[in-house]
Amino acid sequence: MGKALIIGAGGVSNVVVHKCCQNPDVFEEICIASRTVEKCQAIKNKLFGVQTKIRIAQLDADNTDQVIALIEDFEPDIVINVALPYQDLTIMDACLATGVNYLDTANYEPPDTAKFEYKWQWAYREKFEGAGITALLGSGFDPGVTSVFCAYAQKHYFDEIHYIDIVDANAGDHGYPFATNFNPEINIREVSAKGRYWEEGEWIETDPLSLKKVYDLPQIGPKNVYLMYHEELESLAINIKGIKRIRFWMTFSDNYLNHLRVLENVGMTSIEPIEYEGQKIIPLQFLKAILPDPASLGSRTKGKTNIGCIIQGIKDGKPRTYYIYNVCDHEECFAEVGSQAVSYTTGVPAMIGAMLIMKGIWQKPGVFNVEEFDPDPFMEALKEYGLPWHEEFSPTLID
Ligand code: NDP
Repeated sequence: MGKALIIGAGGVSNVVVHKCCQNPDVFEEICIASRTVEKCQAIKNKLFGVQTKIRIAQLDADNTDQVIALIEDFEPDIVINVALPYQDLTIMDACLATGVNYLDTANYEPPDTAKFEYKWQWAYREKFEGAGITALLGSGFDPGVTSVFCAYAQKHYFDEIHYIDIVDANAGDHGYPFATNFNPEINIREVSAKGRYWEEGEWIETDPLSLKKVYDLPQIGPKNVYLMYHEELESLAINIKGIKRIRFWMTFSDNYLNHLRVLENVGMTSIEPIEYEGQKIIPLQFLKAILPDPASLGSRTKGKTNIGCIIQGIKDGKPRTYYIYNVCDHEECFAEVGSQAVSYTTGVPAMIGAMLIMKGIWQKPGVFNVEEFDPDPFMEALKEYGLPWHEEFSPTLID
């Protein structure tokens, strides 16, 4: 059917590449392009006997002209951006200049301040509409699958949705005293930011990780979950009409939190540059350099993730509670594609979003979050490509 340019060669990219190669009718040819070309080669080396043709390229995606040159040379139908959130706008600019569809899994972040806001990317709506191309934002798991779960619930099970709690639990153990499951810089920026949730038309701010509860989650048992801000809240608060409250919860082990507190207290998580031996360094970037590479955790991680949405509202005049979730096993993911479940649960939906755009099913000129499209083909594809989901209509875990 066509070609995809995949930018980035980390844990998520590895999964996207494997999944595209499992779907050669759609992805006839891919190009893996990243800053460190050896990492693209390492991913390519893992794929034997696949039908999809694979090219690799060195690329600095902060440089729009370089991205344009590569797009003009490779002529993809879509660019799948699984580099870092800092590259979203330069890559979107290159897609606009060349008339190619765009997909990512994380909102644009300015390098100097953590914002978790869509405003920069939503500002491209008219440009993408005018160019007749699609930009699909946040096609990972959360944002991504959780957002599609909400759209699916709205379409099939509710007349009105009032409350959504997104619960992201990772009961995996990688055996290190401290490591992050995806890019440490993004992960720590996210976790150390203030919490925020939407209630009755306004955002309520909380101190970082100050609200905690215990959920007894299917297949992983009782876990401490902490309220955090997460970017899909912004778009879901707009796109799920009539919503009264939406919150996001994530599990953290006591061990992870103790390490994080110490690192914060000594200033290692700061994104303010400091002067060290005549050189400016950003403490959080230095910390990233000494922590284990998330891509290396795969072979060590045991246990499961459980990510889902608890949704409450009204159907046919009666109150209804609905729980939808996916459980993913780290070791099974590693056996299949050589990455742990956090990368797997992000990479599979990125491939699915790209596939739906390439097939024309989710193609519409403009910039969209995933919940704005028909959820049904995405939900079907989740089952087919390794992320089956489960539903409960009277869940016991709700407060
Ligand atoms: P990694 O850090 O493992 O990989 C990022 C890759 O991007 C690396 O190969 C890196 O290159 C490359 N890169 C960084 N800067 C540039 C640049 N300027 N030009 C070209 N390539 C660049 O991250 P992950 O794979 O864990 O995460 C990828 C994305 O997925 C992130 O945006 C993350 O926020 C998002 N994510 C989304 C989730 C969701 O559910 N929606 C969940 C988890 C992650 P190098 O190796 O040279 O540094």
